[in-house]
Amino acid sequence: MLNEKEKERYSRQIISKSIGEEGQEKLSQTKVLQIGAGGLGSSCAFYLVAAGIGELTIIDNDTISLSNLHRQILYTEEDIEKDKVRIAEKRLTALNSNVSIYAHKDYVTEESMQKYAQNKDFIVDCSDNMKTKFLINRIAVQKGIHCVIAGIKDFYGQIITVDPKTSACYQCVFSEPVTERVSISPLPVLGATPGILGTMEALEVIKTVLGLPNLENKLLMVNLLDMSFNKIDVVKNDACICSH
Ligand SMILES: [Zn+2]
Repeated sequence: MLNEKEKERYSRQIISKSIGEEGQEKLSQTKVLQIGAGGLGSSCAFYLVAAGIGELTIIDNDTISLSNLHRQILYTEEDIEKDKVRIAEKRLTALNSNVSIYAHKDYVTEESMQKYAQNKDFIVDCSDNMKTKFLINRIAVQKGIHCVIAGIKDFYGQIITVDPKTSACYQCVFSEPVTERVSISPLPVLGATPGILGTMEALEVIKTVLGLPNLENKLLMVNLLDMSFNKIDVVKNDACICSH
């Protein structure tokens, strides 16, 4: 049951016919694992926590640098050189102390993912590389839990939501690269692009939990330069890991 403070805090959500008190209670019982606390992760975490999900666990191994600040809105100038997870935990707790926030400075590996994904309802990919996106998808498929995966570059983004039991997974749509691109000149990115895509990821978690329309079996391609949004139908591949 929501208490009076919660009813007040979430009042503008609760009056939505798509949410109501029942929906708000469902959100408050939802446990999310978020991989990455950068550009996508900043907006995603802010909106999940503001909306009153029950628990958010964040994994990131990075420290804050000056060149992060144009897009990673969790952080400020005084946070430079500090661990992202520590500052993220502080900011997000200051926003909504009702949400249980666990932030771990750790690498994303098969082993660490197995551990952190225990008892979660959702994994959100806020990483910046394909290898991690495939790993997140694989763990979500193994554990039968939802995930949302997004990618961005410059003014462009894409996002998909996966229910491994019923919908196409990331690996149904994309082929895993044999080796990760090693160049490592940084990709161009405008801060607002991960801001928007990360916000969409938070929205996908919220809508999926509430049983509302989402991006299962759809890949949304976003072009923020000409403001076009294209949804492509995708289908579950019988030969994919998600079909075994
Ligand atoms: Zn699949």
